[in-house]
Amino acid sequence: MADLTIPAELLPSDGRLGCGPSKIRHEAVRALYEAGPRLLGTSHRQPPVREIVRRVRAGVRDLFDLPEGYEVVVGNGGATAFWEVATFCLIERRSEHLAFGEFSSKFAASTKAAPFLEDPLVIASEAGTHPVAVPDESVDAYALTHNETSTGVQMDIVRPRLASGGAAPGLVLVDATSGAGGLRVEPGEFDAYYFAPQKCFGSEGGLWCACLSPAAIERSERASGGRYVPAFLDLGIALKSSRLDQTYNTPATATLLLFALQLEWFNSNGGLEFSASRSDASAEVIYGWAERSSFAEPFVHKPDERSHVVATIDFDESVDAGAVAKTLRANGIVDTDPYRKLGRNQLRVALFPTIEPSDVEALTACVDYVVERL
Ligand SMILES: *Cc1c(COP(=O)(O)O)cnc(C)c1O
Repeated sequence: MADLTIPAELLPSDGRLGCGPSKIRHEAVRALYEAGPRLLGTSHRQPPVREIVRRVRAGVRDLFDLPEGYEVVVGNGGATAFWEVATFCLIERRSEHLAFGEFSSKFAASTKAAPFLEDPLVIASEAGTHPVAVPDESVDAYALTHNETSTGVQMDIVRPRLASGGAAPGLVLVDATSGAGGLRVEPGEFDAYYFAPQKCFGSEGGLWCACLSPAAIERSERASGGRYVPAFLDLGIALKSSRLDQTYNTPATATLLLFALQLEWFNSNGGLEFSASRSDASAEVIYGWAERSSFAEPFVHKPDERSHVVATIDFDESVDAGAVAKTLRANGIVDTDPYRKLGRNQLRVALFPTIEPSDVEALTACVDYVVERL
């Protein structure tokens, strides 16, 4: 099977269709190469690198149209590190988590393991769906996930509502690692919207970025009062460093520059509307194809929960998705394999704004070509 050669005219212009790390634009890599001699290998405490951090913070603020009082904070360690930052600095006593896949469950595991917090309230739902947050008086933070990358389910970001219609007290913490930049969001609905830049932001891993509301900033100063907080995970220290356009310890300059370039690409073309529309176009292509296909169907049943940034497509038993992914890989179309632990006969495809919708279209033609010849 892996020997099958897909005709060149069917192939996408770029075969990187994985969900993270994901495609990085060639223009950005070239700009990185050109900036290299005066930037790479220079001090992150000096103006050239600090200017990149400034561009990142300003670019994120513009992209999400953050209100007065919100701040953009960056630190090292990726989204996984931010779960620990939030555990130490944004949760006072108890958190509620919507768990609907690998990533959302991991944050719940972090808070459960923290000896200084009460056990979290975890609301789970079956893979391919998402649960709904329920206001709870014992909870001071709600952990939502904009897009569950392992299953391809997206959810609208809204504050949990009380029966009276008002927003429940408590911070809303949103893991937006694969959603940020590709999905629309209203800043008034979150207190922390955090992500790493190797997905929609077409950069490398290793960094976290968080948009914080005034309430989250205030909590970060209070929650740690009395509690031991490792300096590396101290959001207050990260905030102080970010205000100086620095990170607490040494960042990857390449990650920062690629991130800044992607933000500028988005913002100079119309901002979040531009980037989200590209993902919308890819989603229309792939789900439309799956619905018309005789052997494939979208894994997520409810159309409004189908992710516009990560598509999961189930195949019927007659087609071995693993063999298809392997053949695609041999032809230069990489990382379309399903999420390991989900264990389904499916392909998982990134629809991030970086990816050309015409390449998603080309992918569907390649899958048809391969399946016909199985
Ligand atoms: C990729 C991903 C993460 C993990 O990001 P790292 O930067 O590797 O820590 C966390 N949450 C979601 C939703 C993701 O897609």
